[in-house]
Amino acid sequence: MAESPAVKAAVEELVLANHILYDQTAVDGYGHISIRNPNNPNTFFLARSVAPSVVTVQDIIEFDMNGKALNGDTRTAYGERFIHSGILRNRPDINSVVHGHAAPLLPFGLTGTTLKPVYHMSAFLGEGAPIFEIRNFAKPSPDTDMFVKSADLGDALSKTMGLQYFVLMRGHGYAAGADSIKKVVFRSVYAIQNASIQSEAMKMGPVQYLTPGEATISQETIEGTIARPWQLWSERVKKP
Ligand SMILES: [Zn+2]
Repeated sequence: MAESPAVKAAVEELVLANHILYDQTAVDGYGHISIRNPNNPNTFFLARSVAPSVVTVQDIIEFDMNGKALNGDTRTAYGERFIHSGILRNRPDINSVVHGHAAPLLPFGLTGTTLKPVYHMSAFLGEGAPIFEIRNFAKPSPDTDMFVKSADLGDALSKTMGLQYFVLMRGHGYAAGADSIKKVVFRSVYAIQNASIQSEAMKMGPVQYLTPGEATISQETIEGTIARPWQLWSERVKKP
């Protein structure tokens, strides 16, 4: 892999983010995070097919925006790398994508209930996360293994996400995006917490969500402070 200082720093942060996402239960044995190449907007970095908690710098592969591995790398890649290529290709404002299967989010996709911001930490959810219905895009049959494992399905997922930063995948999980690794990790962690809180609140009665105005204002404030949890999360996963 080309070793410019910017690429080296991005890859090292990507490895750290893999460990943090596992520690914060945003991913488990499955799930992944990517970062756009800081020197080339048409490629991105993503680990080979290993569990996030064990990813090292040596596991990182560079891909093009069709999900094809570059530099002659023939190691096994994640089958769902097209989630990353699809979003990164269609959204130049997004540089980092997370995909996972966190259980608290699943009921929303299953019931069509809109995941909306219940507090300032997840204000980026705005007016609610769209839900990707793979049956609407699967060919030739609507029955699939639920995996986003083609460039076409990655495109469809990205189009469902639209101009937002989070999309639920019915019967599967979620994808989150942001302009940086730190921010996409932050958004993944707090979208999952939002799901738990919203589910509990809905059992009690009608829920007061953030208004669109509150969401816009509080997103700006809270996302200016993400260095604080990032430091905590980094220290938790540092090897002794
Ligand atoms: Zn998945």
